[in-house]
Amino acid sequence: MTSAVIAPLGVDSPARGLECRGCGARFPLAAQHACYECFGPLEVWYDADSLAKVTRAQIEAGPQNIWRYAGLLPVGQHAADRVTLNPGLTPLVRADALAAEIGLRAPLWVKDDSANPTHSFKDRVVSVALTAAKALGFTRYACASTGNLANSVAAHAARAGVPSIVFIPYDLEPGKIITTAVYGGDVVAIEGSYDDVNRLCSELVETDEFEDTAFVNVNVRPFYAEGSKTLGYEVAEQLGWRIPAQVVIPMASGELLTKIDKAFEELVSSGLAVAPEGGWKVFGAQSLGCNPIATALHAGTDVITPVKPTGIAKSLNIGDPAAGLYALEAVRRTGGWMDYASDDEIRDAIRLLARTTGIFAETAGGVTTAVTAKLVASGKLDPDLETVVYNTGEGLKTLEAVAELVGPTYRVRPSLKAAREAGLLG
Ligand SMILES: *Cc1c(COP(=O)(O)O)cnc(C)c1O
Ligand SMILES: [Zn+2]
Repeated sequence: MTSAVIAPLGVDSPARGLECRGCGARFPLAAQHACYECFGPLEVWYDADSLAKVTRAQIEAGPQNIWRYAGLLPVGQHAADRVTLNPGLTPLVRADALAAEIGLRAPLWVKDDSANPTHSFKDRVVSVALTAAKALGFTRYACASTGNLANSVAAHAARAGVPSIVFIPYDLEPGKIITTAVYGGDVVAIEGSYDDVNRLCSELVETDEFEDTAFVNVNVRPFYAEGSKTLGYEVAEQLGWRIPAQVVIPMASGELLTKIDKAFEELVSSGLAVAPEGGWKVFGAQSLGCNPIATALHAGTDVITPVKPTGIAKSLNIGDPAAGLYALEAVRRTGGWMDYASDDEIRDAIRLLARTTGIFAETAGGVTTAVTAKLVASGKLDPDLETVVYNTGEGLKTLEAVAELVGPTYRVRPSLKAAREAGLLG
């Protein structure tokens, strides 16, 4: 099972194998996530000529979801082979009022990925990972999750009619647990942090009993990670095949940030999109309660010291981030920066985003919005360059973050007299 190779390979997929991000060693397209030579993480590598053959017209004629980019993805070239809720093509919302409040003069956009089927960007990565898992012959779907991934794996498995088992920290928000368990798969609440959950899953995946199980972010992680690229492709297409000058991205493992940057590079090198003058800059957002990547950047080091996460931005609470080094590399190479926000700043920013755009984000969206404002205030974000902020999740899943801060403006008995007394008529 785990030695199976995705077939038919080389016919329609532009992917040619897996490549070590550390030493460059290459392996077949299989369920393998670590390098046999140096234990570094593996990434899908593509045939550059195949990528270059993809045209804007082909993409634009494709379905209204991530699969319009199938020519740039490792799997899913044929609709019948996909395990998917058809996520993607979420709104890119012009945010003039937010820009004015935080001091940006150039256009500001919010890429609102809460509009996906299970209301976070994780539907993108799960669709690609599970389509690979099906091709590799796996018969059960699993993940180690900070919440949104569990939602998405459970829902995809339900749609596909395949059993699922998801692993989460026991103290997740009730909204994340309910919206996972409702799909009927197994939900295992672990008495520990996400990093404990992840370690356990790395051990389970090696057992005979889990040999038939694809953990989307463990044994098929290289495919999972590629799904994040669609958040880069879409923004460029929605801007008329232009790459924005500045992007602000929330970080948990740091993978999403590295893949949006990779997507921009692919679009430019294959001639599909135009880079801004002076290139694009990538900015990363974390919370004060879990900021190991931003702390390493601020300290000017490549050593990411794991932390024990705290705070309300639970979906981003990965204390030992697997792609942290690569996120640092992308931010340094492009001339971006990272910062982090406290719980109170996150709560304020959720309300700021809601009040100025009509988008109700989960805590991760609060993190990104708060950090965007900080980066403008500190001069790291250029207020005169076009900027895209990624909202990756839905506020309804983390209601408790703002529950005590908002409520009815008035409480009035149902009579005109009472309405007048309450001041509703001026
Ligand atoms: C998982 C997640 C992220 C970050 O993902 P990484 O690729 O691990 O950095 C961001 N936002 C939300 C809402 C998430 O659930
Ligand atoms: Zn290696």
